[in-house]
Amino acid sequence: MNDDIVKVRSLNKQYRVRGANGLSRDIVQAVSDVNLDIRRGETLGLVGESGCGKTTLSRMIVRLLAPTDGTIEFDGRDVSSLRGSRLKQFRRRAQIVFQDPYASLDPRTTVGDSMEEGLVHHGIGDRLERRRRVAEMLDMVGLQAAHADRYPHEFSGGQRQRIGIGRALILKPDLLVADEPVSALDVSVQAQILNLLKDLQQELNLTVLFVAHNLAVVENVSDRVAVMYLGRVVEIASRAEIFDNPQHPYTETLLRAVPTAHPRGRRMQRLSLGEVPSPLYPPAGCTFHPRCPIARSGLCDHSPPQLMPVPVGEPDHQASCYLRAGDLAEPRSSSVQTEQMIEPKGES
Ligand code: SF4
Repeated sequence: MNDDIVKVRSLNKQYRVRGANGLSRDIVQAVSDVNLDIRRGETLGLVGESGCGKTTLSRMIVRLLAPTDGTIEFDGRDVSSLRGSRLKQFRRRAQIVFQDPYASLDPRTTVGDSMEEGLVHHGIGDRLERRRRVAEMLDMVGLQAAHADRYPHEFSGGQRQRIGIGRALILKPDLLVADEPVSALDVSVQAQILNLLKDLQQELNLTVLFVAHNLAVVENVSDRVAVMYLGRVVEIASRAEIFDNPQHPYTETLLRAVPTAHPRGRRMQRLSLGEVPSPLYPPAGCTFHPRCPIARSGLCDHSPPQLMPVPVGEPDHQASCYLRAGDLAEPRSSSVQTEQMIEPKGES
């Protein structure tokens, strides 16, 4: 059996938006030439600043959005252009949990009916069997069978997210995309939901794509981490490699913004590299070059680097940086000290 349950190749998503003059149409490249594998049974953390394309990418993987071009292979089958009954079959195996647990539940529908909807849609079981599965799932996510008769407003935010998770898992999917599942919750509740997700992943042998803007959250749950910047994956490696041996300058910047209580003793720093460029007008070359402290003129602003193996690290550690990965990569100390710097734009 293939070790990768998801294989994404050359995936792109473009949106047409009204231009500044109100007449012409501009193109926003939300996801750009992404290649990504998700291994069966792992939790892959997908992290990056707001607007980097991580939500668009994750929604394409579960086919809530159609890609502009490129392919998504799920368990050996191309699902990127599925329609009708085949798309419906695929969706049973790939479910999503949304950021806002309240918005994703119908306030006029009882929790039991909401959770049962997926089973009804896929024609699974009779009413009695479905109610039994709802009760089991409520128990699995730390609630009670009696909660099936209540409405969403009767629950706290954390409980509503438990319902959202149960609703996604009731179809026994192979892949769960968790899109910022704790960012709308109080800090005190976040750890409970993260622990629940970790327990369920092991118990159900799930593959999880965990999307977040917060590296500290991703570190808690992930086996591997992919870092996105302006629509591209710029680094991917095991959790330990990303946190102990980051290679892409953007990953290093994100890590410096992790709070001081980080167990490895990093100090929190402001993200001080200026504004993220508009995806409407992305910079030429490496899209990080206007913010990169080690960018090299004539190289980094010419053509975009692809993901390449890093010279120092685990074999499957890849980064898209001319100076830190691939044939041109140089030892860290010399590359940092001898670059001809491109002035970062938008510095405060
Ligand atoms: Fe910085 Fe150049 Fe590497 Fe891009 S390719 S991250 S600009 S050093």
